[in-house]
Amino acid sequence: MTGDGELRELAAKQAALGEVAGAPAADPVNVPMIRHWLSAMGDANPVYLDTGVAPPAMAQVWTMQAPVSGDRSPVNVMMTALDAAGYTGVVATNCEQTYHRYARVGELLTPATRFTDLAGPKRTALGVGFFATWVITWYADAGEPVAEMLFRVLKFRPPEKRAEPYPLRPAVNRDTAFFWEGVRRGELRVQSCADCGELRHPPGPMCPRCHSVNRAHVVAGGEGVVYSYVVHHHPPVPGRETPFVVAVVELPEGVRIVGNVVGCPPESVDVGMPVRVTYRPMDDELVLPVWTPRES
Ligand code: ZN
Repeated sequence: MTGDGELRELAAKQAALGEVAGAPAADPVNVPMIRHWLSAMGDANPVYLDTGVAPPAMAQVWTMQAPVSGDRSPVNVMMTALDAAGYTGVVATNCEQTYHRYARVGELLTPATRFTDLAGPKRTALGVGFFATWVITWYADAGEPVAEMLFRVLKFRPPEKRAEPYPLRPAVNRDTAFFWEGVRRGELRVQSCADCGELRHPPGPMCPRCHSVNRAHVVAGGEGVVYSYVVHHHPPVPGRETPFVVAVVELPEGVRIVGNVVGCPPESVDVGMPVRVTYRPMDDELVLPVWTPRES
């Protein structure tokens, strides 16, 4: 990817080329095009057709053509380099036309383009980008300038698309918040009774042994063995590719936790298989604990 410094160097080179002539118009300034323009714009001024001159604002019309692939004009070289550097967004910001004289019916116009400036990178509401400016001058047959146009665009780096949110969100509530907080820190937390020390999972409001509602937690070592499992083939699950393994993993701490086994073919999963917890980002926000095979 081209660096910002290289882009500025390339811009200086394009500017140093000065005016670069483009292809002449396919047709000379003509009455049918003028008539069509006046009609489209709703311009009823008779001066143009009466005296055989084109409305000055038509300047660009005479030489407008589809982009040619491999066009090595200074503007195109610069736009291609900006695209390649990731500044793929484009929005026109300025267009100023200067009219030197009327173009007359029968004159063949030829454009010439001068790349004038690349400014940036600048932070804008659309993203970080460069302002590129160039000037097109239209010349009549004798090399006489008829009109010119300054054009400025902002080439910006579009903000990166956020990943689609994973559709299945865990229920985070007062009982389970400590568990998900642990997952965010890379800890596998198991709820404990603050009075008798009994561990329990899934988390709940009351100790099943002494009925205390005082809660605490321990951080499990992160190893376990597959106690039981299913391979899910059907139906499809949003955000998931089938088949996948859902296992009950028994921890040496004495509780069992439900989770996916990943990092191995589903058919290689078996009861008693040693696994270790790992943390898988599902989208920009959600991380889920999952299990991978480990050497016993
Ligand atoms: Zn207890």
